[in-house]
Amino acid sequence: MRFIFYVLALVLPATTWAQGRFDDVEITATKISDGIYMLQGNGGNMGVSIGEDGVFLIDDQYAPLTDKILSAIRKLSNKKVHFVFNTHYHDDHTGGNENLGKMNIDIAAHDKVYERLHAQNAPKEALPIISFNDKMTFHMNGLTIRTRYYPNAHTESDSVIFFEGRNVIHTGDLFEQSGYPYIDIDAGGSFIGMINAVDDVIKSIDDQTIIIPGHGSLSNKAELENYNKVLKKIYNELIPLANKETSVEDVIKLPLLKEYEDTWGKGDIRGETFLKFAYTSILKSRQ
Ligand SMILES: [Zn+2]
Repeated sequence: MRFIFYVLALVLPATTWAQGRFDDVEITATKISDGIYMLQGNGGNMGVSIGEDGVFLIDDQYAPLTDKILSAIRKLSNKKVHFVFNTHYHDDHTGGNENLGKMNIDIAAHDKVYERLHAQNAPKEALPIISFNDKMTFHMNGLTIRTRYYPNAHTESDSVIFFEGRNVIHTGDLFEQSGYPYIDIDAGGSFIGMINAVDDVIKSIDDQTIIIPGHGSLSNKAELENYNKVLKKIYNELIPLANKETSVEDVIKLPLLKEYEDTWGKGDIRGETFLKFAYTSILKSRQ
């Protein structure tokens, strides 16, 4: 969810930004299952597997938080961090890559994460040393950790991670538990792609699955189903507007999100922003 970062960056002077933003951030660990934790600080939720083979980390927030993240992990395990897996390329999920890469921690992610970071001239150490094109499986700590790529959803670089046998998954930013999702249409994101991806994830889990969302609190299948139901409803309301070639400016003035504002309106993405990207995505798919 990169949008907010830039919006705030524009309104705060650079010095305040650099010093203040991360000073007070604390990294908290929430135990989910034996050896599996969610870490939260500032940026995308992280997932961690610890065990005899070492540490497997999902996402790494922002560079100034690397030391805090590593010390939070140290409290759970004194083993080496073997891998960091990026759910997608946004900087609130990959900002720590360079620091970790310099420590010889192997970064793994989808090919598109590599391409996107490379295109941004990220230093070599911040790039995945392993990338994959569809699915990849890690065998660590007695776990089978499967990753699955979903094209054109939140971005064009999204993966979901399944901790098989433990019934825990990390959805990256396909699932915004705390508010409206951000569809990064400039990075290959697509509204219908996001709905389809979430559909597939729902089919792959059950009522007991614990979900680490990209942002927000630990969640479950019922919440993910509700999220997808709302997305589909909004999508179905936008289609006739697209058929009538209604402009984006006119669509965002409509009270389409009225019933969700009390809940989703409190998240990081404003309703108007979500609607703008969702609708633009539909228009783009027709060009
Ligand atoms: Zn994101």
